Amino acid sequence: MSTHRTVTVIPGDGIGPECVQAAIEIVDATGVGIHWEERHAGERVFRQGIASGVPKDTIESINRTRVVLKGPLGTPVGYGEKSANVTLRKLFETYANIRPVRELPGVTTRYSGLGIDLVVVRENVEDLYAGIEHMQTPGVAQCLKLISRKGCEKIVRLAFEYARSEGRRSIACATKSNIMKFTEGELKRTFERIAPEYPDIESWHVIIDNCAHQLVKKPEQFDVIVTTNMNGDIISDLTSALVGGLGFAPSANLGSDVAIFEAVHGSAPKYAGRNVINPTALVLSSVMMLKHLGEYDAAETVEHAVLATLQQGYLTGDVLGYDVGMPTSEYTKAIIANLGERVGGYKVRRGKPIAIPQPDRNPVTVVPGTRRLIGTDVFLESGQHPSTLGPILEQLVEGTPLRLKMISNRGTKVYPDGNSNIDIVDQHRCRFVHRDDQAAIDHAAIRHLLAALETDHRWVHVELLQEFDGEPGYTKAQGED
Ligand code: NAP
Repeated sequence: MSTHRTVTVIPGDGIGPECVQAAIEIVDATGVGIHWEERHAGERVFRQGIASGVPKDTIESINRTRVVLKGPLGTPVGYGEKSANVTLRKLFETYANIRPVRELPGVTTRYSGLGIDLVVVRENVEDLYAGIEHMQTPGVAQCLKLISRKGCEKIVRLAFEYARSEGRRSIACATKSNIMKFTEGELKRTFERIAPEYPDIESWHVIIDNCAHQLVKKPEQFDVIVTTNMNGDIISDLTSALVGGLGFAPSANLGSDVAIFEAVHGSAPKYAGRNVINPTALVLSSVMMLKHLGEYDAAETVEHAVLATLQQGYLTGDVLGYDVGMPTSEYTKAIIANLGERVGGYKVRRGKPIAIPQPDRNPVTVVPGTRRLIGTDVFLESGQHPSTLGPILEQLVEGTPLRLKMISNRGTKVYPDGNSNIDIVDQHRCRFVHRDDQAAIDHAAIRHLLAALETDHRWVHVELLQEFDGEPGYTKAQGED
């Protein structure tokens, strides 16, 4: 049996090469005949001076093979270069990150016996992880949370299709739509619109913080959870801890063209090269890869072999303690020796091909019936107190079609009738609207306003206040009428 498929393999940083080597040895031992094309990304590439962390020959290889098995990549935290992981996911529009976890034999946790078997389907390219950040003032940072209707449709449909392919029974949509009504709310609305197309799958919504609470309290109630990027990042680390930790959590990044399979965990640099880490997450990621390649028999064989190995009590240092755990290389050999074993009492999901949504690559324009520009939010950098700034701005727009409706500071109204409890920072959102509630302004009015402001003030950011089909396309400040 041989597929002669070529897969791009990225060993990655820290413990990555050890994990990848274990996965390759095991997959090769099944006889599927994959040709591994080694390419690089991450720390070693940053060190070569390639700022993206993903060189051209890696991109070229992935464009050709369309399937990647990758080790974790280290990313400088809080400064410097972008994450090469995020770059890879975004460059190839792998918009869905599938993160399954399940109770494993021999891996005892406080949840053992509940039969946890759930999957987090995380949107993978939008949200705060679009990484669009600015210092609006020297003292105030901003990160844009971008959520598109197109992106929500893709992830919701993929979640339902994935659930069907795995024979799963229910999907929870987890959002923070009670607070972020437009961004997180878009996922909820899209989910509720699409769910009736999948009557065979029970669907429900849960607020993300309660989802975290419920996952710790009663995790067995969940089957599939679809959620936005950052929520998914956080709860999928949580779900991995329910079944033994990050060493057991695999993932697939799926898009309409490219699929990247990797562990949920990072490069855990302190364990690099010590032959002590747990390669199971990457091995189970390779099981997901084998299913993607249509190698269902090999996938089933490897998954059973992992379960058998764990059931026989072979465990690595993350479970037993690093001084007594089985070395990574021995654990890998034990899995290979167990290829062909079958484990009773543990369901292995064979899976079926996933009908991955094929979105239109062209811009999708959402055309409203009506649109009205009613005003603008201008963000000013100013050390003035709002009680001083407010009257100055009111005077500035006297005799123009615009009036100052309010000033907010970090989302809370501070003028007029400001609350003295609010700590003021040097970035003020000044909301200007048409004096006539029924009228519309045009862009020229905003340009004139900015020109007038520039004389004595420093504006740092501008937003439009628009209504679509009579509905406001902006939210009120906390405390705004
Ligand atoms: P991490 O590498 O996932 O490690 C956190 C802890 O998880 C480890 O100290 C270890 O805990 C445990 N762990 C993770 N993988 C393990 C394995 N295979 N076997 C045994 N234990 C394992 O997270 P981090 O320290 O926050 O991140 C390190 C670097 O990885 C950062 O540069 C980060 O940006 C990057 N990262 C990359 C990816 C990716 O490539 N997809 C994902 C996440 C993070 P104990 O010490 O308690 O045993």
